[in-house]
Amino acid sequence: MDSGPGWLGRLRAGLAKTRQTFTARVEDLLGRGIDPSFYDELEELLIQADLGVPGTEAVIARLRERARTDARTPDSLRRALVEILTGELGEAASLTLTPPPGVVVILGTNGSGKTTTIGKLAARLKGEEKKILLAAGDTFRAAAIDQLEAWARRVGVDLVRHNPGADPSAVVYDAAQAARARHADVLIVDTAGRLHTKANLMEELKKVDRVLRRELPGSPVEALLVLDATTGQNGIIQARQFKAALPLTGIVLTKLDGTARGGVVVAISRELGLPVKFVGVGEGLDDLQPFDPRAFAAALFAAGEN
Ligand code: GDP
Repeated sequence: MDSGPGWLGRLRAGLAKTRQTFTARVEDLLGRGIDPSFYDELEELLIQADLGVPGTEAVIARLRERARTDARTPDSLRRALVEILTGELGEAASLTLTPPPGVVVILGTNGSGKTTTIGKLAARLKGEEKKILLAAGDTFRAAAIDQLEAWARRVGVDLVRHNPGADPSAVVYDAAQAARARHADVLIVDTAGRLHTKANLMEELKKVDRVLRRELPGSPVEALLVLDATTGQNGIIQARQFKAALPLTGIVLTKLDGTARGGVVVAISRELGLPVKFVGVGEGLDDLQPFDPRAFAAALFAAGEN
């Protein structure tokens, strides 16, 4: 997926809070070189940036190994850190959307940034000349339907909606038929983030998933869980609940611009064993980016302009 010009700048700007604290302090530490407290202090910084204990330990262990051989100057230490972090983050993972219509189900608790993510994703895919259809599958909140409709209008894509309180499975059934009839390339489905009980919610999501797979056999189904980076590693607990209910294919980590603990990306992808496919770095239409491990690691550790 093309990221467009200036996305690196926006990624760096989106990570400004993390860069102000974490990056600046790592830079000081690297400048000092490997003295007796170097690894302890680095460990503390990585923990504060929310990499999580296992992620932090892995990075430190690998850096120690590298420092034994080649990486001892500030520059080579920084390069080693970027490489190690890139490795921890795994491969860049894009969406599988063919054969069309590709289905993207957006899951997550209310307030995580689902609706905004759908709007941004629709705009991005439309920019790739794809025909997009949205389905208002969160029928639990009237406001969710209206908000999605506003995004559909803003981006200029069609929306399938029913009235509040309708059965979400009926919405996605209609949306699946419409996607086929209108030759949509991608069907993006909003889902409820909360119902009366968690068990109800998970049952509803499973049913939505079943209907989509039944009505669009042969279509790939991406199930993306939206997590709010500002809630840090609490997202991991939420994610496990969704993961137990349906086969997630990736994470969208929103509001990275709102946290100084951007290292949470490492903890999340590591502990869930799921790729982070997109990151949200602002509220604008262009502020959803395909997650690029190397660019992210470089933005976290590269000193200089913010
Ligand atoms: P939903 O309840 O999950 O559908 O969440 P919304 O899409 O309504 O988003 C909740 C709030 O988070 C809104 O005010 C969004 O503008 C904001 N938001 C979503 N993504 C981002 C992001 O990447 N960065 C920032 N700063 N705000 C975001």
